[in-house]
Amino acid sequence: MPSMPSLLASAVERRGIPCAVTGIEAPSPGFRRVHFDCGALRGHDWDPCQALAFRVAPTLFRHYTPEVLDTVSGTMSVLFQVHSAGRPAERRSPGERWLDALKEGDTVHATRPVAARAFRMRPVERFTGAGDASTAGLWRAFQVRAASPEAVTGLIEVPAEDTAFASALLPGFTVLKAGPEPGAALLAALDRGAWEEAHRGGHVYLSGHGQTVQRVRRLLLDRFGVPRSGVSTQPYWATGRAGL
Ligand SMILES: Cc1cc2nc3c(=O)[nH]c(=O)nc-3n(C[C@H](O)[C@H](O)[C@H](O)COP(=O)(O)OP(=O)(O)OC[C@H]3O[C@@H](n4cnc5c(N)ncnc54)[C@H](O)[C@@H]3O)c2cc1C
Repeated sequence: MPSMPSLLASAVERRGIPCAVTGIEAPSPGFRRVHFDCGALRGHDWDPCQALAFRVAPTLFRHYTPEVLDTVSGTMSVLFQVHSAGRPAERRSPGERWLDALKEGDTVHATRPVAARAFRMRPVERFTGAGDASTAGLWRAFQVRAASPEAVTGLIEVPAEDTAFASALLPGFTVLKAGPEPGAALLAALDRGAWEEAHRGGHVYLSGHGQTVQRVRRLLLDRFGVPRSGVSTQPYWATGRAGL
């Protein structure tokens, strides 16, 4: 539901959960972390694959993933990738303009976090994730929820200026410097043998850039012998598409 008529969007927003903004951090040039107090999330059954949507413009919603959701206090943080970082302000997208305008003390409405049936945390002991900067919060959520952070390993490509932040955030992940072509660094690393190091067994999750997700899945199935049932995918954005 990336876009809908304004009246319908207002109705969806009214049914959402009020979330007060309690803090905003810029931990790295390409990331913004926002802390929310959403009382209605107390007791929520959280799965790290759950995503919610914010109304970022009168007719537009965008999806994001709680990086941490405390089901006792009803608080959560969301890690937003600022994908136009470094570009002129007028090129910022609706989601980024909404994020730029957000201030501590604001109250926004979020849809209740839900996971797609085919993309949720499996009851297994180990997990492997692969994606781009938009998935950093997702892999962090896995590490928070898994029995130990070491149970979650993988590969992530992020802009050069964000590699130190991503390495500190995601211990056990191979952090790759993204190039101008989405997914190129990830695919090149897999070609160089990075899969064997990143995958320590368990279920595989692929997310982020849709076209890359498809290519990496094909590679894992055809070349690395990962069974079809051992991979779950969830595109987060796609070249040439606004919202997903
Ligand atoms: C289930 C789900 C969960 C998600 N969780 C998160 C999350 O936790 N954190 C997060 O940062 N994002 C997350 N996303 C991705 C986010 O919703 C998209 O990146 C979204 O398109 C951003 O909206 P926008 O208004 O900034 O850009 P849009 O208006 O949607 O797109 C404008 C242009 O930017 C391009 N674009 C969009 N996103 C990116 C990107 N990440 N990198 C490079 N180019 C891009 C588009 O192809 C388009 O050309 C999630 C998406 C889904 C479907």
